[in-house]
Parts: sequence; C-alpha cells; structure tokens
Amino acid sequence: MKLIFLGPPGAGKGTLAVKAVEILGVPQISTGGIFRAAVAAQSPLGIKVKEIMDAGKLVDDETTIALVKERLAMDDVQKGYILDGFPRTIPQAQALAGFSTVDKVINFDIPDSGVLVRLGGRRVCRKCGFNFHAVFNKPKQEGICDHCGGEVYIRDDDQASAIQKRLEVYRAQTAPLIGYYREKGLLLDMDASPMIDEIVINFKKVMGLAV
Ligand code: ADP
Ligand code: ZN
Repeated sequence: MKLIFLGPPGAGKGTLAVKAVEILGVPQISTGGIFRAAVAAQSPLGIKVKEIMDAGKLVDDETTIALVKERLAMDDVQKGYILDGFPRTIPQAQALAGFSTVDKVINFDIPDSGVLVRLGGRRVCRKCGFNFHAVFNKPKQEGICDHCGGEVYIRDDDQASAIQKRLEVYRAQTAPLIGYYREKGLLLDMDASPMIDEIVINFKKVMGLAV
C-alpha cells in the first residue's frame, strides 16, 4: 500500500503515521524527519536547509524531489510506504508520479484553530522523533522520551512566528494538492480533529479496514 499523508502542519500526520506503520506493515518516510536528522548531523544537506526550516519555509523542490526519489528506490519500500510531508507542492506531486504510483492520499481535515493548539504544545523526541504534547500527551517523565529515553524538546520551527509562516505556506503551496489528487480519484478525506485514538479509527474506516 503506497500512501500519502496530506494536511497542514500540526494535523497529526506524524502521530498517525507511527500507528499506521504498525497497521499496514510499511515504512514511514518523513521528509521533515530526514531534514531534521541532516540538520542534527550537520551534513551538507543539513547546513543548507536549517535556516529555511527554522523560518517555516519550504526546502526547494529540486533538493526535496531528489531526496525522495533516492529513498523510494530502496528495497524496504517496494511493497509500500507512507509519505508524510511529501509532496508539498504541485511540482513535487508531478515529479513523484514519474517515479512511483501512489494508491491513496489521506487528506487530514482539521481547522486552523486545532492546528494552532497542537503546534503550540508540540514536544518532539530528538532521538526517535516521537511527538508528544505539553497538555494532551505528556511524556511520563518530563523532558524524557517514553520510547527511547531521548531528550524531548520544542522544535525550532514550532515558535509562534514560524507557525504562522508554515500555515501560509500550506495554504498557498500545499492545499492545491487536495484538488489535484481529488481529480485523480485518489483522495480520501479524514476528520483529523479528534484525539489520536479516534483518528486511528477514522483512518481505518476511510481505508476500508476492520475497526
Ligand atoms: P510539519 O508538517 O509539522 O510542518 P515537517 O516535519 O513535515 O513539519 O516539515 C518540517 C519542515 O521541513 C518544513 O517546514 C520544510 O521546511 C521542510 N520540509 C519537509 N517536507 C518538505 C517538502 N516536501 N518540501 C519542502 N520542504 C519540506
Ligand atoms: Zn524517543
């Protein structure tokens, strides 16, 4: 099963992806996660993208497309994958169509108010990338990841100024993909406003899986 998770920042794509990986048995590919790992490693890619990410802007299409193309050529994704955070522009979607055939696109439906609450409280594990929330989903021990013991921190692009920018970028560049994929008959709308357990149920329903 080859899936795209499409939705605004803070819609819960990464959080559902962790569960969907178990349900479907295919790997998650998070472009944001790959970029963050590159920043942490201070690799040439990381040095190039750090400022862009911190400002809430998009990494250029050429760089992003090359990265995903390379990733999708690997053995572990030949039976399927969940693309979390890619494509984010029409040119990215067009490029993807040239090197992979997507089965379905899950459209995370959530109002801006919900997004602001989630991003405002988001806490992330530096080591494994797991998403926590300062109010709704705290780590058992403050500042420490339940899953791997890594440090739980606030992403640089979750500062208020960058959040506004990311929502603007989403509306201008990414939201047009909803129409693009709807026209191709691939889009499945999913209510992403409830808490995660309910979102998992919504996901199974739209996918036609037993709940
Ligand atoms: P969120 O969905 O919460 O905004 P991500 O982890 O998906 O966060 O992405 C973080 C940042 O990584 C983006 O703001 C952007 O700078 C960069 N990025 C991730 N995916 C892409 C993409 N497909 N195209 C361009 N930039 C991307
Ligand atoms: Zn962790």
